[in-house]
Amino acid sequence: MITGGILLIVVFAVMILAFVILATVIMKAVQSSVRQATHQIANKVVDKALDVGSKELIKGAYTVGKMVQEEMVKSDPQKMGTEVTKLAKRNKGELTLSVVMSELNISRELAEKTLETLLRQKVCIEGEAGESYIFPGFKDKKKFKVCEYCDAEFELGAVGDACPSCGAKLKTSSRWV
Ligand SMILES: [Zn+2]
Repeated sequence: MITGGILLIVVFAVMILAFVILATVIMKAVQSSVRQATHQIANKVVDKALDVGSKELIKGAYTVGKMVQEEMVKSDPQKMGTEVTKLAKRNKGELTLSVVMSELNISRELAEKTLETLLRQKVCIEGEAGESYIFPGFKDKKKFKVCEYCDAEFELGAVGDACPSCGAKLKTSSRWV
């Protein structure tokens, strides 16, 4: 009876052990396959993130770099003056406030401040109508003769001192062209 009892216990113990081993093996297999699948997904996600991220990062760095550069120019009156002068050259020596604002993408305040500085430095002068800025360095001053009475204009060498049409006195004048 005692031998039978021990045998039963041994069989029971072996069954438990077998179950534990089996369970462990199954668990390990499941864990491994899950880990592998997770790893693959994680890799894909990381790759994708890196791919998108690096592209965005480069784009972002470029944008930030450009912004910083622009802000540096904007905060540096000297550089801003250079930018406006370069723009004046492209625009054949004549600028308006609105052209400076839109072409350089700056505020009215900054455009005015920069143009005022350039006026003080005699880089530009105010246009006759008071709405434009003339950059004499990019323009020629053309002289002509104008009648004091009838306002007729003549080439310098083409006339004497009297207006050919009304006989009034001619005076020499000039304009930027
Ligand atoms: Zn005249």
